[in-house]
Amino acid sequence: MSQASQPRKLSLAAQIFIALVLAVIAGLLLQSHADFAATYIKPFGTIFLNLVKFIVGPIVLFSIMAGVVSMRDIKKVGQIGGITVVYYFCTTAVATAIGLVLANLFKSAFPVLETSSLTYEAPASTAPMDVFVNIFPANFLSPIVEANMLQVIVMALLIGFAVILLGQKAAKAVDGINLWNDIFMKCMEMILKLSPIGVFCLLCPVIAANGAMVIGSLAMVILAAYCAYLLHAIVVYSLTVSTLGGMSPIKFFKGMLPAIMFAFSSASSVGTLPINMECTESLGASREVSSFVLPLGATINMDGTAIYQGVCAVFIASCYGIHLTPAQMITIVLTATLASVGTAGVPGAGMVMLAMVLASVGLPLDGIALVAGVDRIFDMGRTTLNITGDASCSIIVSNILRKKGANL
Ligand code: ASP
Repeated sequence: MSQASQPRKLSLAAQIFIALVLAVIAGLLLQSHADFAATYIKPFGTIFLNLVKFIVGPIVLFSIMAGVVSMRDIKKVGQIGGITVVYYFCTTAVATAIGLVLANLFKSAFPVLETSSLTYEAPASTAPMDVFVNIFPANFLSPIVEANMLQVIVMALLIGFAVILLGQKAAKAVDGINLWNDIFMKCMEMILKLSPIGVFCLLCPVIAANGAMVIGSLAMVILAAYCAYLLHAIVVYSLTVSTLGGMSPIKFFKGMLPAIMFAFSSASSVGTLPINMECTESLGASREVSSFVLPLGATINMDGTAIYQGVCAVFIASCYGIHLTPAQMITIVLTATLASVGTAGVPGAGMVMLAMVLASVGLPLDGIALVAGVDRIFDMGRTTLNITGDASCSIIVSNILRKKGANL
């Protein structure tokens, strides 16, 4: 067959979009057969997610190491890291504040519930200091085995710095790191080819199980969270991307569409990493910056998760008839910022960390049971915001460094 007569292949983004639409339609049709969707469709989504989880550790380890060694200068890593961490913390704190304001505006529509029958098993350790201590690995293999991404980042930074300090002596290690980075990226590319199937199989059972429920009593809290997600994206990212990143927000959001769709349907920041890298690079971010800023962001920068935690704290308080004081609100902003750092970029992780936020202001942890049933719906939106925030940072850092005359 001649080249010209071959059917044109749909781009991955288009395939994902079609899968998304089909999943919604199939999910709505299967509402009365939610069990079927959960038993026979979901497992294929789980296989896809398992593959993503399998590759996430090596990807974060090698892409951050490759990012660090490519800078050949610890000072430069410090400079990029410094701007990145400040941007991440500031935007996350603003995100929680937006979440709290929106939730308070919607509060009158939240129900006061009969909550005596709620039960939720709280996770064992949620103290803020534990989050800090747990960043540092005590074992060479366990960070990868347990998929503890903060520890993987520390490991990658340490090894990367050592390679830089060894200079010429470690030239072979630099080649090795780059080679392994390419190998794992190729693996990820292969796994991502399955993403339309993965997206369909993950989303369809969610719609089948929750489709009707969304219109139910939790609709208002979901609406509050989504309004806050949108507000944060439109106001904060548009502002930072245009002022600090030198890019029109429309161009930014348009270029981010494939990653946004993937994040929305997969609910995993780390799984979205490769598509996010592609999108930001085609928007003009430097590869050197993206390969450091994005994996870091997929682990520590979760604006959507912080919003969700703020909104849920107000919602749960309101359900129990508890009035939150301004001091408690400030505590929520601080703990939600910290909790989102400790949240892994995989589906459902933010809900576990919500316990830490509730505990910090003495709200009943049982309240998590109120939102647990529809967590996935919150999660799709918060993950989308999480990865968009990471992308905005890589555009901004690239622009700031180029302005300073860096050769990127
Ligand atoms: N699913 C989110 C993410 O991957 C984390 C969360 O559960 O909030 O970014």
